[in-house]
Amino acid sequence: PDIIAVVPAAGIGSRMQSSFPKQFLTIGQQTILEHTLAPLLNHVRIRKVIVVLGADDDKFTGLAVSRHPRVITVTGGGQRAESVMAGLQAARGVHWVLVHDAARPCLHPDDLTRLLAITATSKVGGILAAPVRDTMKRAEWGRDAVAHSVEREGLWHALTPQLFPLELLRQCLDRALREGVTITDEASALEYCGYHPELVVGRSDNIKVTRPEDLALAAFFLTQLHN
Ligand code: C5P
Repeated sequence: PDIIAVVPAAGIGSRMQSSFPKQFLTIGQQTILEHTLAPLLNHVRIRKVIVVLGADDDKFTGLAVSRHPRVITVTGGGQRAESVMAGLQAARGVHWVLVHDAARPCLHPDDLTRLLAITATSKVGGILAAPVRDTMKRAEWGRDAVAHSVEREGLWHALTPQLFPLELLRQCLDRALREGVTITDEASALEYCGYHPELVVGRSDNIKVTRPEDLALAAFFLTQLHN
């Protein structure tokens, strides 16, 4: 195994209207986080999975997966980029690191394998992404009215996992954090530093569970995945 995975799971999930972080909500027999970790723990190329938890997390140790021999936990920070950086500090001895949102429980193993295949050809890494299907509008500044349409051709949804050389990601995140840039995924840190990660076409059912209505959708996609 030549890759370490980092799963930022230190967010509070404020949009979920739940009293505890969304990654600990249950779908079927398991929490969202357990569904998220399964394809990573099952992949032959992944050596370890570093789960980044909130400082006051009291839920993870209650899960069986917390005792998995290839799971490591670290404490995250107030921003996603800080949480990922905390995960990277615990990653050693590999060239490539994979970052996957805790809130994406429906990753298909084939998508993971396809993303990992770019290590053979790419120097800067890449991300799973799905072409945009809807017509896109830019709103007028400060007002919910259409300013103009944005050409859909060439627009992609950024998904996770995202795969980068460990040292390169560390440098780019460090610079973005020092310079106060807002980072919502790891690729943004590389872009900020002038790199162009590859787009690897991923399935659009690899959703991020964000709002309450996403739970039923994720539950449906998970039954599809396991059948
Ligand atoms: O809030 P959002 O859905 O964008 O979060 C994406 C992922 O980043 C989630 O898995 C969340 O737990 C994680 N996160 C984190 N530390 C933060 C904020 C978010 O690990 N401070």
